[in-house]
Amino acid sequence: MPKKPAAPIPDAQFSIKVSPRGVTRLKEGHAWVYRSDVAANKDVPPGALVSVTDPRGQFLGTALYSSSSQIAIRMISREPVADLPALVAERIRAAISYRERVVANSNTYRVVFSEADFLPGLIVDRYHDVVSVQILTQAMDSDPVRAAVVKILAEALGPAGIVERVDGRIRDLEQLPPRKSGRLWGEKSSTIITMNAGVTTGGPVDGVRFHYDGLEGQKTGAFLDQRENYAAAAQYGHGEALDDFCYQGGFALHLAAKCSSVTGVDSSRPALEMAEKNAALNGRELEWIEGNAFDLLKDYAAAKRHYDTIVLDPPAFAKTKRDLEKALRGYKELNLRALKMLRPGGILVTCSCSFHVGTRDFLETVSAAAADAHRPARILESRGQAKDHPILLNVPETSYLKCAVIVCK
Ligand code: SAH
Repeated sequence: MPKKPAAPIPDAQFSIKVSPRGVTRLKEGHAWVYRSDVAANKDVPPGALVSVTDPRGQFLGTALYSSSSQIAIRMISREPVADLPALVAERIRAAISYRERVVANSNTYRVVFSEADFLPGLIVDRYHDVVSVQILTQAMDSDPVRAAVVKILAEALGPAGIVERVDGRIRDLEQLPPRKSGRLWGEKSSTIITMNAGVTTGGPVDGVRFHYDGLEGQKTGAFLDQRENYAAAAQYGHGEALDDFCYQGGFALHLAAKCSSVTGVDSSRPALEMAEKNAALNGRELEWIEGNAFDLLKDYAAAKRHYDTIVLDPPAFAKTKRDLEKALRGYKELNLRALKMLRPGGILVTCSCSFHVGTRDFLETVSAAAADAHRPARILESRGQAKDHPILLNVPETSYLKCAVIVCK
């Protein structure tokens, strides 16, 4: 049989061949090819738009190239791409209209979630009238792409300010010149946000409000991926509540609408200071304790303290695959102590944001903790990240947050 002729390579400036293993990965729907599966091509500059071909030269799609990351190429289209800034603008419009369908009752949400919005290396969060941009790859850092991102966000969202949050470590890894966080457009960089209006009605304010400062704080200012889980916690929470790893009070302030008392615990004083300000903004009084959540749970358990609702939302324990076992021991210990402290009918909202800890590993660990604590428990809801952090099938790295809502016997 005559061999099928290779499709002509479209008119792109640079082209890169991937190995058979890379081809398989792309055919399975993943967006990344690692450096070890890419033929070296010294002509390709950092951040270039490249045509990707199989070893025979057959066109597979268009990708963004990184000269330094282990992820050498990130696919942006299975078609030829002539104008990257125009494609980025079109994808941002599509990302905005997706949020119009899936986000309700909140003026704060993730607008663009990198690969999951077909924009590898671009994160955009909307905090009411301030928009925050993070750029994570060489290609997204180019001047024409940056200009297109700012223009379309200003047009489509009409904010009072657009800020850029810079992660110096990522710029180093991508071999990009250092840059400071700062304003990209407009005047405003801080504001007041509201989420879950209508969910926590009957309180001093509708929904829950938070201060946001685009040029301070941790991450992009708030953990927006937990927004829907806050509402779930408020749905089931009751009585005396303890929010461990409370940061600026995300769960605690939602629980305040339903619980007779709420205590938030965190090791970061600045986070707790902001939590206190957020409580005032909502007309609530909560107790905030600065300390190590592991030690505090141990001391409270020894002192036979009991709660009706406990939230566990620790930082990612497994930053790499190698940390998995240690991470699972950490989750087991926390969950064991919390389960022992819950009164009958008590609610545990337990989370893991480590990508390397799968849903199954996580639920098995919580189950083992329940067995050791002699607490029969039921899963009311097994949840994940909010829908404005979409999970792209075939790119498992886009799914990372687990949140189980459990009721104890
Ligand atoms: N639940 C929060 C997010 C938690 S992020 C929200 O929804 O907004 C994890 C938090 O854990 C951070 O605020 C960090 O300061 C805190 N932290 C990290 N290690 C800790 C420890 N050992 N004890 C208490 N808090 C800790």
